[in-house]
Amino acid sequence: MDDCLFCKIAAGDIVPDLVYETKSVLVFRDINPQAPLHVLVIPRKHISTLNDLAVDDAGLVGEMVLAAQHVVAREDYAESGYRLVMNCNGDAGQTVFHIHLHLLAGRPLTWPPG
Ligand code: 5GP
Ligand code: ZN
Repeated sequence: MDDCLFCKIAAGDIVPDLVYETKSVLVFRDINPQAPLHVLVIPRKHISTLNDLAVDDAGLVGEMVLAAQHVVAREDYAESGYRLVMNCNGDAGQTVFHIHLHLLAGRPLTWPPG
């Protein structure tokens, strides 16, 4: 997708603050962090929203969660706790239409969210 910010990051046209990558996913720091650790896990493949996931993407979504788990363990937040969030469309506040998992850690996170 030519006009997709996260596709540009996946293609290497924009260089993120990368923390982890695999064949299928990238993990990089959010430009506007909401917690001491706030990274985004994205698939290299363009998928606009959660609504656009297909059955064949199930493994890819699993890889996204496992990439987050890997970073959590490496940054030592497994025991203190963390949150994984995926926003979909307007009411959830999705602003970048290439699916991404927010990983937040390093402070107490309130519930319910805003
Ligand atoms: P959403 O609101 O779509 O769930 O989350 C999009 C996230 O992308 C936001 O937390 C925002 O701060 C982050 N973001 C937007 N533009 C950039 C960018 O150019 N680089 C990085 N690293 N994060 C970005
Ligand atoms: Zn994209």
